[in-house]
Amino acid sequence: MRRSGSSAAPALDRSTLTAYEAGEPGPFYYQRFGHRTGAEAEELLGELDGGRALLFSSGSAAEAAIVLGLLAPGRTIALAEGAYYGTGSLFRLFERWGVRVVEFDQAGPPPDGVDLVWLEAPSNPFLTFPDLAAAASHPAPVLVDATVSTPVLLRPLEHGADLVLHSATKYLGGHSDLLLGVVVCRAAEQHEALLDVRGRTGMTAAPDPAWLLLRGLRTLALRVRRQSETAFELARRLERHPSVERVRYPGLGDRLAARYMDGAFGGVLSFDVASNEAARRLETSTRLIVNATSLGGVESVLESRHRWEGDRVPPGLVRLSVGLEDVDDLWADLEQVLARV
Ligand code: PLP
Repeated sequence: MRRSGSSAAPALDRSTLTAYEAGEPGPFYYQRFGHRTGAEAEELLGELDGGRALLFSSGSAAEAAIVLGLLAPGRTIALAEGAYYGTGSLFRLFERWGVRVVEFDQAGPPPDGVDLVWLEAPSNPFLTFPDLAAAASHPAPVLVDATVSTPVLLRPLEHGADLVLHSATKYLGGHSDLLLGVVVCRAAEQHEALLDVRGRTGMTAAPDPAWLLLRGLRTLALRVRRQSETAFELARRLERHPSVERVRYPGLGDRLAARYMDGAFGGVLSFDVASNEAARRLETSTRLIVNATSLGGVESVLESRHRWEGDRVPPGLVRLSVGLEDVDDLWADLEQVLARV
């Protein structure tokens, strides 16, 4: 990682204004339009994904900025079925302003006649993987929400996508202590349009979380590689457990994930137990793994997703985000709860 001047650590600059020079505003004249700490993070994020990065106050704010900046009433989004619940929920808000949404199976080609293709690699919590080549040959711009894979494991712009989105709240921050979103654009015009929306709406990231993100990014690759290894091992062990009906993890034979990823598949997996009651018993009985929502932090967390997503998910589906704990300690925790469901 590049350093700020001669300092070993990134710089935190909270100033909302920077004095004009000879009567002219410089790049950071007012914080809503950008600030030094955010710009430093954006440079790094742009390098990681191979494009131009923009930081937003959350992943959801980044999503809203894309709708406001790149779509208009009457335009249609083709949304991957099973994508993050909150994304569909946000788009339903925009339906009131005339934006349409159709869902499709991202393992196949997107439907014709849409204006934006929205993929998730892999989807949260179903862990399906998109056919990036099929999407890239569609005439509409393609966005990949790569929150779960991170640029360590997947660089969608290299596979023909136009935009990459991350909830930086998850792996990029990595310590469950910041809320941020990132969009990385291939084209200068889309970057300009989103920068304009961000500045006018104030969806800008604040300097403090941007600084925490800079710190988190220093260990991103180490964390993600280790979390992927542990998750893969737990997925294999869960698959053999008699109380587990199904394990959802891209490493377990997903042909599209195998095509686009290099043998490491991320730290999130889901598994199904017999009923919602069993899932609820399981989530309230772990000792090491925290029963909480969110994902991508150094601590392992799990939860039944039915409480949030209702019948969209099987009642016994449990999502597990694997942290940096020892794999055998995590397995011991899972085994002791699975013995009781
Ligand atoms: N995309 C995915 C895949 C997510 O999991 C989330 C949050 O859970 C978001 C986007 C939204 O991000 P945020 O919570 O930072 O607004």
